[in-house]
Amino acid sequence: MNLAQHHPKLYRASSATNERTGPASGKEETVKTIGLLGGMSWESTQTYYRLINEGVKQALGGLHSAKIALYSVDFHEIELLQHAGKWDEAGRILGQAAERVEAAGADFFVLCTNTMHKVAPLIEKKIAIPLLHIADATAEEITQAGIETVGLLGTRFTMEEDFYRGRLEERHGLRVLIPDEDGREIVHRVIYQELCLGKIIPQSRDRYVEVITELANQGAEAVILGCTEISLLLEAESCPIRVFDTTEIHAQKAVEWATADAR
Ligand code: GLU
Repeated sequence: MNLAQHHPKLYRASSATNERTGPASGKEETVKTIGLLGGMSWESTQTYYRLINEGVKQALGGLHSAKIALYSVDFHEIELLQHAGKWDEAGRILGQAAERVEAAGADFFVLCTNTMHKVAPLIEKKIAIPLLHIADATAEEITQAGIETVGLLGTRFTMEEDFYRGRLEERHGLRVLIPDEDGREIVHRVIYQELCLGKIIPQSRDRYVEVITELANQGAEAVILGCTEISLLLEAESCPIRVFDTTEIHAQKAVEWATADAR
């Protein structure tokens, strides 16, 4: 992908950084600073932090690690607003946090949750740097793999609403299957009552595999782990169809954006 063409904001941000630091003399001067907004929940933010650092180390070698500006919210506050339907208020809080991430020197912005991409448009209004959208990053991988019909697991918001599912279908031409009402209830409950609290329960893993098997029976060629904590519970090997883990894909894409000029 030609990043300059697709993300002109990213390139403006990057050249501004270089003006501050002088002419590039080594890899480190062309590596971009990744802005992370985490805490939703912190259980998955630590996975992002590890994967991004491992990815930069792998891309650049030696003692290289990622340049990261991380702001982490109190998930209790956000979760109450989600379940009360107060999305504008949640968007205001995340928009303010994003401004802080930008002020800390981030060249682009990564929102470490699928669900809160519901308020991505509100956040984007607050910042000049580009947002690396988790659904677009995931859909790119899926379409490159030649997959057309995909199952989607996530919070109820992610599975049921248009901001995510609709984006996969309308922008990326995917056919998206979601679990039935019981399946959605289980997947949503396990996310909030177990995974976001760091509880990994084998019976819940079995339930998830049952839900995925049902989606496969309905024609899903692969499944999107569309919540950033699900990979804490499920390994790809235990699933009957191919898995696209949004946390891993999003982190990997952030590494690609950060190191595109330094390889
Ligand atoms: N991290 C989860 C997600 O990717 C759920 C928690 C949240 O509501 O942000 O959707």
